[in-house]
Amino acid sequence: MSAQAQMRAMLDQLMGTSRDGDSTRQRIKFSDERVCKSHLLNCCPHDILSGTRMDLGECLKVHDLALRADYEIASKQQDFFFELDAMDHLKSFIADCDRQTDVAKKSLADSQKEISAEVAAKAEKVHELNEEIGKLLAKAEQLGAEGNVEESQKVMDEVEKTRIRKREAEEIYRSSMPASSFQQQKLRVCEVCSAYLGLHDNDRRLADHFGGKLHLGFIEIREKLDELKVFLLSFSSM
Ligand SMILES: [Zn+2]
Ligand SMILES: [Zn+2]
Repeated sequence: MSAQAQMRAMLDQLMGTSRDGDSTRQRIKFSDERVCKSHLLNCCPHDILSGTRMDLGECLKVHDLALRADYEIASKQQDFFFELDAMDHLKSFIADCDRQTDVAKKSLADSQKEISAEVAAKAEKVHELNEEIGKLLAKAEQLGAEGNVEESQKVMDEVEKTRIRKREAEEIYRSSMPASSFQQQKLRVCEVCSAYLGLHDNDRRLADHFGGKLHLGFIEIREKLDELKVFLLSFSSM
């Protein structure tokens, strides 16, 4: 974005469409059907996932920071219930994503059918510990970045302990499998963002995943959806 465009966006955000004055610049109103209500409420997946591997491209509906500013001012006086539109939008987005996760899980299960349930359970244990390490590392980095060195160190100690547990679990798993099949990359699907995670992905890769923009973006969308549901429920019970 050029400096000029950045300045324009900033002013839009601050003042809404009122700064257009009586200029000829024609704008639609924030309540227009063509305006993305999720964008007004700052939760459109097209914004949240932009720049990630699952970038959705441009939203089909209008995104305009000035209209969001107008809406924020107007919504102080009146309820517009755009939360309903946003909830429908996010609900269908998440449902699509969960369907994809199911399909991916099913095709994985088919390809790994030959592994016995017992061995699969052992592999599952390694998966769990591996992901725990990734999550803890991401957390430690977050704490470190916030300057919370002591807490970050505590989490790192936990990482060490979990690594030991993982090595043990790996040993148990390895000894139950012929060497050749152990080498095969075993995958699982992330329940949050439906990305594939490898059983043998190293800590670094997993930390990148759990602390990454894509995974965190999905957490944000899911949390937003929950917030919208709670908000709308509070009206239905009135
Ligand atoms: Zn949108
Ligand atoms: Zn994920």
